[in-house]
Amino acid sequence: MLKILDPALATVAPSIRNRLLAELAPDDLARVAPYLESVELEFGLVLHEPNARIQYVYFPTTGAVSMMVVSPDGAVEVGSVGNEGFAGIAALLHADFLPTRALVQAPGQAYRMKVPVFRMLITESDTMQQLFSRYTLAFLNQVAQSVACNRLHSLESRCARWLLMTHDRIDGDQIRLTHESLSYMLGVHRPAVTLAAGVLQKAGFIDYTRGLIKITNRPGLEGAACACYQIMRRGYDDLLQSGQAVAGAATFSSERRAHVPNAADSAPS
Ligand SMILES: [Zn+2]
Repeated sequence: MLKILDPALATVAPSIRNRLLAELAPDDLARVAPYLESVELEFGLVLHEPNARIQYVYFPTTGAVSMMVVSPDGAVEVGSVGNEGFAGIAALLHADFLPTRALVQAPGQAYRMKVPVFRMLITESDTMQQLFSRYTLAFLNQVAQSVACNRLHSLESRCARWLLMTHDRIDGDQIRLTHESLSYMLGVHRPAVTLAAGVLQKAGFIDYTRGLIKITNRPGLEGAACACYQIMRRGYDDLLQSGQAVAGAATFSSERRAHVPNAADSAPS
């Protein structure tokens, strides 16, 4: 069950922590902000199922959403979305459905917006259209890199890469994760994951107990990861170059955010 946060709580952290939203031009941001709703992403929450109509696009501020291909033979992660992007790219591409399940893999928070509103806003702004299109390309590049990674690189290095990408998207050093869910993320059977995680733990890079992985040596983990981690990270950094603007200029006013639910409710649907 998705929990909509109390708008009063949402004002506690006024800075936009979604890098894509933060990259919007001030005019675009002013148009977008009234339609955003702050929601909590609980672990295991499904944002959309395969081939079900997408109702909302989600802009995570913390946490990670996995895009999973689900088949009778099992489920595998084919891409992931954190605070560098948004979930629901079908909405941008004039489609109502995606073949993947969007599953919250690392809990956090997000802004969401109704799909018809999102489409209305991007139709009215070339700069928004361009930004989100560039993100979509970066996401597709991530998926392509993942395919190559799965074929070319060792399970330990892929495991390290996945943990680093998730670490980048959360607050703190602890990732809630069972071996079973990590096996879905990496597309291998659970015993292999146990071995790979064991190697990283023995090296002192992570500590794993009872479904909780703690990153204990980040530089060590970076050394253990394949080059795909840096390639994927650089892909998003190139897209969102102005980190200073992200940290500084883009903020919501408390007043604006206090009106989020009403504005969203009155939007076309
Ligand atoms: Zn790789």
